[in-house]
Amino acid sequence: MLHLIRTQAELRDVVFRLKQKNKTIGLVPTMGNLHEGHLSLVRQAKVDNDVCVTSIFVNPTQFNDAEDLKKYPRTEAQDILHLEREACDFLFMPSADEVYTDNPCLLFQFGSLESVLEGKYRDGHFSGVATIVSKLFHWVSPTVAYFGQKDLQQFRIIETLVKDLSFPLQLKMCPIVRENNGLAMSSRNNRLSTEEKTQAAHLYKALTSIKELIHTDELPNLINQAKAYLSAQNINVEYLEVVDAYNLQTIKENKKQKAVACIAAYVGEVRLIDNLFLNHFKE
Ligand code: AMP
Repeated sequence: MLHLIRTQAELRDVVFRLKQKNKTIGLVPTMGNLHEGHLSLVRQAKVDNDVCVTSIFVNPTQFNDAEDLKKYPRTEAQDILHLEREACDFLFMPSADEVYTDNPCLLFQFGSLESVLEGKYRDGHFSGVATIVSKLFHWVSPTVAYFGQKDLQQFRIIETLVKDLSFPLQLKMCPIVRENNGLAMSSRNNRLSTEEKTQAAHLYKALTSIKELIHTDELPNLINQAKAYLSAQNINVEYLEVVDAYNLQTIKENKKQKAVACIAAYVGEVRLIDNLFLNHFKE
């Protein structure tokens, strides 16, 4: 049965009792409006651990656009049904006041990892992510925490956070879950019209074309072709880059390093991100 927790105090109490019984805990942090992508993390956490704790919190400190925060979909009742169906054990769903008594003054910096891709366009975003994830790690002290490859840069940032602050836990990155047309699942997809959902599938097609042609042409040419293709589909690309899958720095030549193509683009008013590993590898 899904047990709903609203306060830090109750969460700490639950965790204390689980630890006394030597239970392993899988943590799945989310902002709600759950879809198959989120649920794939819950399933993996259930497979690997004795209990699964999912958190739902739309974290204000990671939004640099107040409008975006306001528009973020909140679907509590439906999310609870999804988690019950997945036999998730605990749902931590605090209010903003429960998480932040005051505006945090601590800021995180991740150097070259955050001066690229999303970090370039979303000032302060990863500091906000690191703050909320640190709080969750303290409260839940998970055995393993689960994140999606969909937010690859976020995963690299959290890896750094765990290493630099010596959080005693393991991280697991789960693959991107896609719609049948290739569109990466995202809570933001709900804001797309039916036509825009079809249009948005071109993001994945563009990434796939880079992967398929990687041995036939120079990377800058492939990227330019993919951008031209997207522009012809009326998609406004913010960035499309091929980067090293670990340090996220731009790769100009395909020299067999672990490369990933990353994109952020607007379909209508909605900003979407996606990425695709260009060479086969396992973390
Ligand atoms: P969010 O609620 O958007 O903050 O996402 C919560 C977690 O779910 C993050 O670790 C995301 O990377 C992951 N996630 C979001 N969409 C997908 C997807 N399509 N496939 C796999 N994981 C996802």
